[in-house]
Amino acid sequence: MPLGVGDPYRHLGHNCGAKRMLIERLLGARCPLCGGELDAPGVCLSCRARLRSRRRHNLIFLGSYREMRGAVRALKFKGGYRTADPLAQSLAEGVREAGWPVEAVTAVPTVWWRRLGRGYNPAELLGKRIAKLLRLPYECLVGRRYSQSQTRRRREDRVNIRPGTFYLLGDIEYGSWLLVDDVLTTGATFKAVERVLRAGGATAVFGAVLAAPEYKGW
Ligand SMILES: [Zn+2]
Repeated sequence: MPLGVGDPYRHLGHNCGAKRMLIERLLGARCPLCGGELDAPGVCLSCRARLRSRRRHNLIFLGSYREMRGAVRALKFKGGYRTADPLAQSLAEGVREAGWPVEAVTAVPTVWWRRLGRGYNPAELLGKRIAKLLRLPYECLVGRRYSQSQTRRRREDRVNIRPGTFYLLGDIEYGSWLLVDDVLTTGATFKAVERVLRAGGATAVFGAVLAAPEYKGW
């Protein structure tokens, strides 16, 4: 059964062109995934219908970086709150379908100055929505230290993570975690945060990301 309310404009009917145009004007944006008419908040209705989570081992994701690039950008730079809802919904459905025994949700942290500039952390924005949909607690559990080459590593996954970059902010109360991020490239960031969680007592760490690399057989 789908989570959430589905199409928020279903009460308008399918032939209500004037209202759809009004909505598009009010939102003033295109769909970040297909570039087409934005007939629902954040992601258009036809892209919403195509959003399906994929699973590889302990990770679920919605597509390759190429497929999800627009959504990743939208989440970071414009109208992130509206884009997060349908994406979180697909990821939450994926977690349910996987049947993982997740007890709580957390997200890969960002450095304080990036969070300050943007006002939020996209991974945390997604994580909080996923937790709400799954009726699980969300915990802000891991901190991140600034490292000098941070500005050159927006794809920080491609390089090794310096030991001590991530650290626990408090005691771990749950055993099984869902760790959320926007993009996974090599998995180095993800593994570094997982190590911190496990060192603090976590027994299982599952992952949910928007975009993960394309491999043969995915
Ligand atoms: Zn679309």
